[in-house]
Amino acid sequence: MKKQFVIIGLGRFGVSVCSELHELGHEVMAIDMNEDKLNEVTDVATHSAIADGTDEKSLRGLGVRNFDHVIVAIGDNIQASILCTLLLKEMDIPDVWVKAQNYYHHKVLDKIGADHIIHPEHDMGHRIAQHLVSDKVLDYIELSDEYSIVEIVVSSSFHNKTLLETDIRAKYGVTILAIKRNEHVNISPMPDDKLFHKDVLVVVGRKKDLKRFESIS
Ligand code: ATP
Ligand code: ATP
Ligand code: CA
Repeated sequence: MKKQFVIIGLGRFGVSVCSELHELGHEVMAIDMNEDKLNEVTDVATHSAIADGTDEKSLRGLGVRNFDHVIVAIGDNIQASILCTLLLKEMDIPDVWVKAQNYYHHKVLDKIGADHIIHPEHDMGHRIAQHLVSDKVLDYIELSDEYSIVEIVVSSSFHNKTLLETDIRAKYGVTILAIKRNEHVNISPMPDDKLFHKDVLVVVGRKKDLKRFESIS
């Protein structure tokens, strides 16, 4: 189903969110107070407007209150980010996502009711570190302090073995959610499905179990 989003602040992060939402077939209203920034989204934003996200009148004038999802991607100006978020929550927008700059910014956003607080640089740093230390780990999503999902390349030791034969769940306590082979993705694989060298496994589990699995897989 098509959804409608507002993005306020068109730095690298805001523009990237905007183009991906467009790519996924959704409508995006892009707002920045700097006219030059709007040029970057002419092809991907459904509407765009020059406005100050901390100006309640402008936000109302643009009809922002009619949207369910707003992303505040104002970066370095923490004060503007906080004020903008506050105005959006006062307008009763149900789903407000905000890019936080640091711990204190996060705390304030939490107090004023931001629904999702994101730290793209921090999260990306985590993921890249995972890639750096292991050439088998292709991607990494942290679910909680304890659990993650990783994408791991199958080594030759599992080649041509069924899941049953590898006994992965019993031995390592991790669960294979999907097996990717070239363009084909096998979701929730069966015990007699086979693994091939260079397949990519999407695996969920405790971080320490995943580490153990990575080291042998
Ligand atoms: P990134 O790292 O994603 O490139 P950033 O975190 O460095 O971005 P900035 O470049 O500081 O963030 O800000 C992102 C955008 O937000 C800029 O294009 C800026 O013009 C815009 N912006 C800043 N304050 C406001 C405001 N009050 N209203 C609307 N847009 C704003
Ligand atoms: P991020 O978005 O990851 O927070 P950024 O892309 O906005 O970072 P900056 O904050 O401009 O980048 O720079 C990151 C760090 O790099 C800063 O701590 C800064 O002091 C340092 N830095 C910038 N230029 C240099 C340089 N020429 N030599 C050494 N350190 C530098
Ligand atoms: Ca930045």
